[in-house]
Amino acid sequence: MTYTASRNQHELRSRVEAQLRRLKLPAEAELTDIVECVAHASGRRIVVEPVGDRDWENITGLVLLTADSAKILVRKSDPRWYQFHTVLHELSHVAFGHTGCTTLPIKHPGHEHARAGQTVLARGIATPDFEEDLDFNETGLVMEAEAEKLSQMLSRLVLRPRHGRDEAVFG
Ligand SMILES: [Zn+2]
Repeated sequence: MTYTASRNQHELRSRVEAQLRRLKLPAEAELTDIVECVAHASGRRIVVEPVGDRDWENITGLVLLTADSAKILVRKSDPRWYQFHTVLHELSHVAFGHTGCTTLPIKHPGHEHARAGQTVLARGIATPDFEEDLDFNETGLVMEAEAEKLSQMLSRLVLRPRHGRDEAVFG
């Protein structure tokens, strides 16, 4: 499957929804289910690994991609919920088949984690407001917006109240 970036907000949304359907997540999805479903859909082995934060001032997550695997590195010192979101964000890139990286400076220490033949996707701390003013000519930004949107929808699936009665508590 060759990737082409969404051309407008409408296309972005429908692509995110298509990805969600393609993943065929179980009704009561946990993070491990999502990892498994993305691995299955993308045909890549997926490993998630928390790493130390030395030199990681500006990035909070990385994906090292090869043809058949994706290794997701998350910053150990970040709060759990943030690591969780970072993993969902990086998994979303993998689901979309995004390659290349625009947010990682060439000389960033993140590259030390990369080996020959791997593509690096990095998650920066500053996330532009993708809902508005997205320049659809900037493929890198569109990829970020796609990943961010899908990860938001995934986290809603995982974090939603498990029982009708829990839901009732929130009115
Ligand atoms: Zn990203």
